[in-house]
Formats: sequence, C-alpha cells, structure tokens
Amino acid sequence: MGLTGTERRWIDSVVRQDEIDRYLRDGRDFVDEGLIWDELERNGDPADSRIREIMAKSLELERLDPSETAALLGCRDPGLWEEMYSAGLRIKQKVYGRRIVFFAPLYISNFCVNNCAYCGFRRENNAVTRKSLSDEEIRAEVRALTARGHKRLIMVYGEHPSSGADFIAHTLKVVYGTKHGGDEIRRANINAAPLCIDDLRKLSEVGIGTFQVFQETYHPATYGKVHPPDTLKGNMRWRLYALHRAMEAGVDDVGIGALFGLFDPRFEVMALLLHTIDLEERFGGVGPHTISFPRLEPAVNTPFVENPDHLVDDGDFKKLVTVLRLSVPYTGMILTAREPEKVRRDVIPVGITQLDAGSNIGVGCYATGEKRDEKAQFQLSDNRSLEQVISYLVEQGMITSFCTAGYRCGRTGHYFMDVAKSGKVHTLCMPNAILTFAEYLDDYASDETREKGWELIREELSRLPGEDLRERVAHLLERVEEGERDLYL
Ligand code: SAM
Ligand code: SF4
Repeated sequence: MGLTGTERRWIDSVVRQDEIDRYLRDGRDFVDEGLIWDELERNGDPADSRIREIMAKSLELERLDPSETAALLGCRDPGLWEEMYSAGLRIKQKVYGRRIVFFAPLYISNFCVNNCAYCGFRRENNAVTRKSLSDEEIRAEVRALTARGHKRLIMVYGEHPSSGADFIAHTLKVVYGTKHGGDEIRRANINAAPLCIDDLRKLSEVGIGTFQVFQETYHPATYGKVHPPDTLKGNMRWRLYALHRAMEAGVDDVGIGALFGLFDPRFEVMALLLHTIDLEERFGGVGPHTISFPRLEPAVNTPFVENPDHLVDDGDFKKLVTVLRLSVPYTGMILTAREPEKVRRDVIPVGITQLDAGSNIGVGCYATGEKRDEKAQFQLSDNRSLEQVISYLVEQGMITSFCTAGYRCGRTGHYFMDVAKSGKVHTLCMPNAILTFAEYLDDYASDETREKGWELIREELSRLPGEDLRERVAHLLERVEEGERDLYL
C-alpha cells in the first residue's frame, strides 16, 4: 500500500538538517571508514604482549582507542581469546559486581512508514497484523508484566505519525500510572525512531530511563542497501546523531547498538567505539549508558533474513561481545532473548549487565498470552520464563536486580559514569540490587527459588564492603520482609 498524504507530509516534516549539521566536523560524521579499515589492517596480527597490555588497560577501566580495539579483533590465538573472556568477566565483576539487571520489552505500536529489509514490521509486509495499543490495552500489558515481578520496561514503537513524541509521552504516563500494590513499573526505557531535540525534551519531562536507537549498520553503502533511500530511515545521518540530540535535550542515558548480520562485524564494533568516543568528547566524558548487539532473527514473510550476507556464528558473536566489553569497560551491555538459551549461558559471563526473560514481542500479547509471529517484529529464541532464568542465575551466583533507584535519584549521565568508572557501584548498586531481589523473591518467586535466592542474598550481604553498610542493608532487608517496598540507598 502506498503512503497516504498525511504520512507523506509528516515524513517531510521530521528531519531538521540543522540538528545534523551542528554535530559534523568539517562536514564529516564520526564514521571514518578509512580510519576503520586502516586500523583493522595495521593491527591484523598483533603480538601476544600487545594483547596483554591492552587487556591490562581495560582492567584499569580505561576506554580503549580504535587501534587497540582493532588489535583485539585481529587476535587469532585461541589461548589469548580465553584470557580475554576471563578479563571480560573480571571487568564486569569490578564495575557491576555479581548482578544482572532485568527488563521486559513492551511493543506499543507496529505501524511503520519505513521499509527496512530485515524487519517484519516494514511497511510493505502485508503478513503482519498492524496494531497500536489503546490506554486500556497498555494497562492490561503492564498488569500482566508487573504481576510476574517486572519493574523495568523497554517500550518499542514503529516510526509513524501515530507514534510521534506526544503519543510516546502519553503512553509513558499510562505505564507509570498503572499501579496495583507493589506491582508497578518504576523505569521505562524507550526504543523508538530518531526524534528532534524539542520532541526529546517532551520525553525527558515525562521521565524516561534510557533512550535507545540502534544504528543497525554504520557502513554507509550497506545502510543504503537495507534502508531504501526514499524512506525516512534512509537518512543515515539523522539516525547517526539521534543520541547526540537526546543528550542535548537532557535525556542523559542513551543506548547505542548495531544489528549484526548486515555487514562485517569488525567494522560495526569499531564504529560502535567511534560512536562512544564522539559522545564522550561532546558531552563531558559521558558516553552511552548501554550497548546492544542484536543478531538478525527470522521474521514473518521476510526473505532477507533467511540468507544475510554477514551471518555472525556463535563463536564470533562471543568474541565481538568480549571485544566490546574490553573496549568500553564501564558501559552496560544488553543481551536479549533473541539469542538461544545456550548462547546466553555462554555469553553472559563475558560481561553482560542486562537481560530480558519471559518476553513476548507480539503487540498486545502479554495480556492474551498469544505467541503469534504475525504480530511480532521477529522471532525470539530463548523462551524460558522470567523465573526460570532468574533461578538459573542464582545457581551461577548472580543476583537479579530490578533496581530503578539510579534514574529516579538523578544518578544518570555524569553521575552514573563517575560511579561506574570509579568502580563504586558495589556500595550503591549492589545493595539496591539485593533489596529489589528480596522484593521479587517474597512477592513473585516459587518456594524453591525463594529459598535459594535468599541464601545467595545472605552470601552477598556478607561480601558488602564495611560493617556500617552491611548493617544498613540488613536493616532494610528486615523492612522488606515485613512488607515495605521500594526501599533503596
Ligand atoms: N522502529 C524503531 C527503529 O527502527 O528505530 C524501533 C526499533 S525496532 C522496533 C527495534 C530494533 O529491532 C531495531 O532497531 C533493529 O535493530 C531490531 N530488529 C529489527 N528487525 C530485526 C530482526 N529481524 N532480527 C533481530 N532484530 C531486529
Ligand atoms: Fe520500522 Fe523500525 Fe522495523 Fe525499520 S526496524 S521497519 S523503522 S519498525
């Protein structure tokens, strides 16, 4: 179906060229293709000693330079890769401790004006049922999710005049306003199309957590191939600076990402680093709050994903996640249920900080319980429930966190980066993780998970630094057991 007049007029009004140009340097954007290929070539076969020096720098929680990241990508020695995996784990422990934050994706609308070759929601895909949730349907989805223990969402939208900033802001208010006892969403992140600065201010005022926009691919020629140039998303630079605009609008937690499978994964990893560096340079050292690295998944009636040019196998996937962990040691890293259980088990230890579980990405499908491909953007592979994944993590000695204190207390942007970079997360985030995990165990978990979860909490409590802190947290835990909720440091 062609575009309507209203859609066409709306598309023409979205891009503000001055909100691209202000970030360019001498007319050039930060994706320096020449530099990326040069670094990859020059660092193609690094000496063992160089790799170890670079690992040492990462372990000091310093961000790597492009030539260092290129050297890690060029490493061919399986023994050294094993060393890098364990360095990833140590960095994660140092910055984030033994805790994983959980969220749930909530698809609000799948109307879209674009035609991204890989996406089930692309405009020309007639096999998808289109839907935008009403307020009552959003409340039903939120109730279904919070009844299982979720406190954090990533809300997802197609790009369409019916899903503009006012609609997003309205749906956020509906989500935050849906409460039933302790069942409530305390932090809603957004994954939506690039917006202009004024629109981003509107979202900032309602109180969003992280604003995510994935670049999909940073390689201009490939970007042009999978995003038709006559579509809104075909404007690569509008998307490239979406998060610069968000930072300027006061949304100071932003999430970058690339969709792996579209182009050479080494190029995308290098470009994610350049994106990070550009944000840090322009916003006083504050880079992305999270990095995402989804791989292409099958989607209904979407032949492109059946045979992509740059499929990333499981081994290479683990390597690229590890290189990202070492390259940007203090940034959160998100691994979604797109990945199968086995891959998630294997990759979590190299430095993942956020997971989803029990996810249903069909629009309106949490409340109905349907698993319908024609309502979803793509297919998920890890279909374990939230409790199953949490229980698995407890066995691995990891605390599940539903903590949302950071953003509600203004611990975002500069503040968060200072805390993360100095490794102080243990005195703040770990106690809060413990408190939210205790809430989850008491309110939502089975007897078996509750028992082993509390055992882990007691162990972690004894590991907290300082008698004072341990006493304070023990006291708060008693209050949680007595029924008080939403306690945090
Ligand atoms: N429409 C908005 C946009 O394009 O930015 C929202 C994003 S979309 C609903 C969320 C993300 O899903 C996309 O940015 C893309 O990286 C990813 N995605 C799209 N199709 C996919 C597929 N077939 N497999 C895996 N991830 C996919
Ligand atoms: Fe639309 Fe986003 Fe899908 Fe592209 S990836 S077709 S913009 S929903």
